[in-house]
Amino acid sequence: YTGKSGTQLLTENLKKLHVKEYQSMPVAVQDHVSVYDAICHMFLEDVGTLFVLDQKGLLAGVVSRKDLLRASIGQQDLTSLPINVIMTRMPNVTYCEPEDLLVTVASKLISKQIDSLPVVKKTEAGYEVSGRITKTNITKAFVSLSKDEE
Ligand code: ADP
Repeated sequence: YTGKSGTQLLTENLKKLHVKEYQSMPVAVQDHVSVYDAICHMFLEDVGTLFVLDQKGLLAGVVSRKDLLRASIGQQDLTSLPINVIMTRMPNVTYCEPEDLLVTVASKLISKQIDSLPVVKKTEAGYEVSGRITKTNITKAFVSLSKDEE
């Protein structure tokens, strides 16, 4: 018997969960696509957040469902409104890296009141997007912790 409390064991197990084991594929659009096309893309790909890439394929911003709804209730022509006008742009995008702990990501989602983070690799030129972490991934990890006990 290790003499460790249930909470200590849970904390130890939590610290074994990393972004790279739970991340999903990123869904991205180019920064010049229209709001209209971004809405279609979001439906087709069945995601709540799109990552926006610049001409070099580097992270430029994110657009959420609410950003697209907000743009849609105005009197604007959605087919001629570029996504980079309404996105949340760098350096204001909260991101994570593959080696980060899932609990760190979870606390960022809570503190920033957002649903997902891009998983990035930092390069000289900027951030390459390799994945995404959403509340769903965190929920799956939470369930996997309970399965460990069985
Ligand atoms: P929704 O708008 O569908 O509720 P979110 O709660 O994730 O989705 O988004 C809320 C706001 O935060 C939006 O304006 C969105 O652009 C922004 N946002 C979403 N994800 C991020 C992120 N990783 N970093 C910075 N801002 C973000």
